[in-house]
Amino acid sequence: MNDDQAILVKLQAEGRLRTIPLIRHDGPWILAGGNRLLNLSSNDYLGLAARADWTRSFLDSEEARGCRFSSSSSRLLTGNCEACEAFEADLASDLGHEAALLFNSGYHANTGILPALAGKHDLILADKLVHASLIDGLRLTEAPYKRFRHNDYDQLERLLETEAKDHGRVFVVVESVYSMDGDTAELPRLVGLKRRFPNVLLYVDEAHAIGVRGRRGLGLAEEQGCLPDVDFLVGTLGKALASMGAYVACSKMAREVLVNKSRPLIFSTALPPLLVAWSHFVWRRLGAMEAERRRLAHLAQTLAETLRGWGGETSRSHIVPWIVGGNEATVRLADALRRKGFYCLPVRPPTVPLGTARLRFSLTAHLPDEDFGRLRRTLEELQGNWRSTSVEFQSPSRGMSNLE
Ligand SMILES: *Cc1c(COP(=O)(O)O)cnc(C)c1O
Repeated sequence: MNDDQAILVKLQAEGRLRTIPLIRHDGPWILAGGNRLLNLSSNDYLGLAARADWTRSFLDSEEARGCRFSSSSSRLLTGNCEACEAFEADLASDLGHEAALLFNSGYHANTGILPALAGKHDLILADKLVHASLIDGLRLTEAPYKRFRHNDYDQLERLLETEAKDHGRVFVVVESVYSMDGDTAELPRLVGLKRRFPNVLLYVDEAHAIGVRGRRGLGLAEEQGCLPDVDFLVGTLGKALASMGAYVACSKMAREVLVNKSRPLIFSTALPPLLVAWSHFVWRRLGAMEAERRRLAHLAQTLAETLRGWGGETSRSHIVPWIVGGNEATVRLADALRRKGFYCLPVRPPTVPLGTARLRFSLTAHLPDEDFGRLRRTLEELQGNWRSTSVEFQSPSRGMSNLE
């Protein structure tokens, strides 16, 4: 057996083999393997990516006309464009910051910001459950880093009390809505810690909250009243914004450091101007999407109720987990749902902690009521089957304790 084969065989044996599914989109449904399934694994939270009328009116608009499909170069060479500058100006002013900077994706932003800013005399304290892109960013950074237990701000405070004075700057890194548990950060508490320790800077990734939370859709920082208090406010454009790319809102000087030192920004072709103009087009309409946000919140609460005691109780957002535990059982459950017409992907370690494999429901505002009702009835039925057949059934919350 050669090395590649050995890798694949091992993954298969561990129930961790990944594949890229071929699917087609049709509004809230997807077409896969000849079946039409309700998409419960979408990041198109407001249903905007499915809105052909929006795409059409954008393409017909003045701002789209004349925009190139390629920037042909990095921003620092010949790839800058008016669309980028105009969008960044609006991002900065809407988010209450001096400046904003676009990145090609959330992955680029999260691997490009901390390594550019944090030096070896600094310290990074990151929540245990931050996204893989942030973890890769930590690994690229010269600064030492520690992870605190998920949402355990008492532990964070103790760490700051013992460590903050020994370091130049301390970056506290969290997400606002967590992608696997669907729970949320308590940003005002973190802002309070920042005020207590003058060398602390707050970095918040709003990937799942931008567009979805806050009265104007500006994220959890808007909802919790601390937009200007987050030093590095990151958001991605590929989820609710129905586009591609990411931004950070920050100080003018921090932006200048990033322009000089952030390698994913410097050494990669910039986003296509046409796509930046589209992101800006959607951004300007976010404020008017209150009905979508309300509907999404309503669907989420209803589903969390259905999954209460099975993982649903951890959710505070439109991401609702059914925490199953074992890899195989999770895959079986996903298959059962698929046979009933629901597309919901299983999430397994190492994406989530060992023993907490789960179905992750990621809801969108355009799910039809009728299908959503059928989903809830199906889940209740599966819970009944699960209880009666699983000898090893244990409280699914068991695996939820943190790793440390
Ligand atoms: C999706 C996601 C990212 C990555 O964003 P992309 O634009 O898809 O690269 C970063 N952080 C979090 C929390 C995410 O969920």
